[in-house]
Amino acid sequence: MSSASEIAARLQALRAEIRRHDYLYYAIDSPEISDEAYDRLYRELQDLEAVHPELITSDSPTQRVSGEPLAAFGQVTHLEPMQSLANARNEGELAVWHGRTLRLLQQAGADTAELSFVVEPKIDGLAVSLRYENGQLTSGATRGNGEVGEDVTQNLRTVATVPLSMTGQDFPEALEVRGEVYLPLNAFHRLNEQRVAAGEPTFANPRNAAAGSLRQLDSRITASRPLAVWFYAVGHAGGVSWNTHWETLTWLRAHGFRVNPYVQRVYSLEAVIAACREWEQRRGSLDYDIDGVVVKIDDRALQSVLGSVAHDPRWAIAYKFAPSTAHTVLRDIRVNVGRTGVLTPYAVLDPVTVGGVTVVQATLHNEEDIRRKDLRIGDTVIVQRAGDVIPQVVAPLTTRRTGDERIFFLPGVCPACGTRVVRVPGEVAVRCPNESCPGRAVEWLKHFVGRTAMDIEGVGEKLVERLFALGLVRDPADLFQLRYQDLVRLEGFKDRSARKVLEAIEQAKERDFSRVLFALGIPHVGAQTAELIVQRFPSMDLLRQATEEELAAVDGVGPVIAKAVKEHLRNLRHIDVIQRLDAVGVRMRSQEKELEPASLQTLSGKTFVLTGTLPSLARNDAKALIEAAGGRVTASVSRRTDYVVAGGSPGSKQTRAEELGIRVIDEVQLLKLVAGH
Ligand code: NAD
Repeated sequence: MSSASEIAARLQALRAEIRRHDYLYYAIDSPEISDEAYDRLYRELQDLEAVHPELITSDSPTQRVSGEPLAAFGQVTHLEPMQSLANARNEGELAVWHGRTLRLLQQAGADTAELSFVVEPKIDGLAVSLRYENGQLTSGATRGNGEVGEDVTQNLRTVATVPLSMTGQDFPEALEVRGEVYLPLNAFHRLNEQRVAAGEPTFANPRNAAAGSLRQLDSRITASRPLAVWFYAVGHAGGVSWNTHWETLTWLRAHGFRVNPYVQRVYSLEAVIAACREWEQRRGSLDYDIDGVVVKIDDRALQSVLGSVAHDPRWAIAYKFAPSTAHTVLRDIRVNVGRTGVLTPYAVLDPVTVGGVTVVQATLHNEEDIRRKDLRIGDTVIVQRAGDVIPQVVAPLTTRRTGDERIFFLPGVCPACGTRVVRVPGEVAVRCPNESCPGRAVEWLKHFVGRTAMDIEGVGEKLVERLFALGLVRDPADLFQLRYQDLVRLEGFKDRSARKVLEAIEQAKERDFSRVLFALGIPHVGAQTAELIVQRFPSMDLLRQATEEELAAVDGVGPVIAKAVKEHLRNLRHIDVIQRLDAVGVRMRSQEKELEPASLQTLSGKTFVLTGTLPSLARNDAKALIEAAGGRVTASVSRRTDYVVAGGSPGSKQTRAEELGIRVIDEVQLLKLVAGH
């Protein structure tokens, strides 16, 4: 690009393009391109403006915080502006930021010998500012354009981790607390599943789901989505002052604000880099999405010396993780038959590395979703790993089309058994109605033995397929009839391995009733829904007697699930399986319920291990709380542990829990459990 007019034209085109994507992303929570693609456009604009500062316009996206508040909401003017953050794409750029920061501080005559940094997870949600007047929450707003945000006070009041009043005393007259609202990953997946079932477009990632959930005109919708928040800064401080950012975070914690327990203070660039690497590793084990690490100069006086450029403070930087999206070719679309008979298309992709993992397949939900995204076989597509390991196909790159791409149609017959498929009225899903479809049966068995269901160690998907193919096991109840002779003659099996499998099957009889209910594979009934149902109907008999209305009235259940449960339990084949499971001693009633009514002893029978420093509870207090609710606290993690409660610097107990697949919860989740949620 050489001529002045060409440069001006490119600048204008970039600004227009970025503004369009800003609108899609911030105003209507429906981005069309990946964050990496957006960042590339933004960088190009920044680089061009750096070479041609005379062409910078005051309305350029580089000069102001993006995200005009939507007129549908009331407006809140922030007492202190809400800024954005400059990015470092790799360790080299982090080192450049560090070098520049030192230079600027030294030029200003500051002592940089003992510089400390605070390193925080960069939560991928949306920023909010909460105003507290004399300790009471009075308003809450989105970032908007940085000066004026959208008034979402009523919606924020429904977020369980937003304190309605501050803890402690001596509150400032007016205080602005800043944090990131997010949707935990399991809630994000559940929400998308519900949307698929209802034929609604899915959210591209947890960030959009969180933003879409908070920016609702009807706060009942927000209330139905389990949003959470991490707090990380103070805007207007109302006369309170702190020497360091670390002190600010400690103060926030002490006043009832949820601050991420893993936030760290470090003292060198090497330690900053080590922390960023650690976070990149830990990323996949968290129950919320992070897209990087925020590094902040700790000393507030030095922060003031450094100040801001455009909309970014110079004393902080966002280290962004490696891209979680990539481009590849959609070679084919094939179809799986699920345990409930639903035909699910999936993408067969040319192998591609996304977020450090090679991806060859991705789910496509259903035919409508494929139509909506206009995906065609042969397209070059954007693949994304959003928030966890499950890859998704986000969109086709239509400009790369050659005309040879083919439109996909679901087959009219089941690919596993050839039965004509049916479209259930009111549902997007297409199902194979054949109760004895081999495809459905195998998927049901896989689900039944899976880790989150009956967790039968040593009985994996491959073994289940073999047992089914040999006619040894046709449904879950058959598993309990397997004999030593059946197994030992299988290829690869010896005396010891056969005994181990039989032992594991025997142990599965001890699983809680809620797990059994989940393992039965009732449509729409996930592990958590099964728990909710069992809390209200603690035995199979009670559940059978319950009317559809009674079931639907259970918090978190509703009419669709209630109908599915009742239909499942009326089906003769399922009745037979349940009876045979019952006959061999698989639990059909909840033990805990028989011991104590839930309202008094919410944690009875549950074993906890505490590790790390909890944000507000001392170790002894947490122990006393658990014991008062009927739970037990033990020192080390074993298979018998139900929950590990992790705080800051959790150490090896958390690692051990993750290895064993034991749920790791934080203080807030513990308090909810104690309260009986
Ligand atoms: P940013 O997301 O890069 O960084 C600033 C934000 O980080 C803050 O506003 C806050 O919300 C958040 N944050 C999370 N944890 C934090 C912590 N511990 N401390 C401080 N802040 C924390 O900046 P931005 O201006 O909000 O968004 C720009 C980014 O959004 C782009 O880089 C791009 O990735 C994405 N984007 C994408 C599209 C698209 O079309 N795909 C469009 C616009 C923006």
